[in-house]
Amino acid sequence: FAGKLKGKVVVVTGASAGIGRATGKAFAAAGASVAVIARREADINTLVSEIKASGGHAIAIAADVSQKDSPKRIIETVEKELGPIDILISNAGISRIGPLVEEPEDLDVWWKVYEVNVRAPVALIRAALPGMVKRGSGILMTVSSEVASMQLPVMTAYASSKAAISKFHESIVPELAGTGVLSFAVNPGMVGGTELGKGAINQDAMEHPAQQAFLNHIKSSAGNNTVGTSDLPADFMVALAVDERSKKLHGK
Ligand code: NDP
Repeated sequence: FAGKLKGKVVVVTGASAGIGRATGKAFAAAGASVAVIARREADINTLVSEIKASGGHAIAIAADVSQKDSPKRIIETVEKELGPIDILISNAGISRIGPLVEEPEDLDVWWKVYEVNVRAPVALIRAALPGMVKRGSGILMTVSSEVASMQLPVMTAYASSKAAISKFHESIVPELAGTGVLSFAVNPGMVGGTELGKGAINQDAMEHPAQQAFLNHIKSSAGNNTVGTSDLPADFMVALAVDERSKKLHGK
């Protein structure tokens, strides 16, 4: 897809690691100017240096997307530094693996998953959407998960947050009809080599029969014991962004 997204401005949250890092690189390789967002400033600065060394264009914005003032600040900074946003990719996500009875009663840590996985992408979309509607074009993508449609004991905060954000993207489609703005939840299967599993409450939670059943399901549905890599969802999102047929899905 080299050069296919030249002139486009893309925002990728959660770009210091895993799928987000691969996504920032993939969009830059397709010619886009990319704003990479995460809390670990040194890591996103390194990514920007790598993109620039390959001839691409990127900026880094250090932010915790779950802070209430972050989404507006991120959108304003990107528009000031790079111009109007064409593609907004909310990828930042955290997991929580453990039985519900072991969660603290106030559930604050459980809700944190919702703040990062649901409120942050909705708030980013809320901040970016008026400009996109005014310009008559834009793509909104959030990296959800295949678990959005699964029954998943011991990952209840994570699975239900992904179901919520996937349903959100589906639900805004009719609202966006005719505006030129497209909405997609991207639902990868299991991706190895990322840091997401560190959300386990303890190792026992990973050994829980329901967690093992989930992992076995993933492995068997992949046809063998391998899992996807961060490049797969990244490449998929670039393909979605460059494919003119995507627009037909939304009646535009
Ligand atoms: P990683 O844990 O490797 O990366 C998560 C990224 O999100 C990091 O860059 C992290 O950066 C960022 N992040 C987390 N919290 C915040 C925050 N509050 N503010 C800003 N950035 C934040 O995870 P993956 O690459 O595996 O996951 C990326 C997305 O893909 C997630 O939404 C995940 O749910 C989804 N997914 C993952 C799958 C998998 O099997 N790995 C499968 C399906 C979906 P930093 O710590 O620097 O802030």
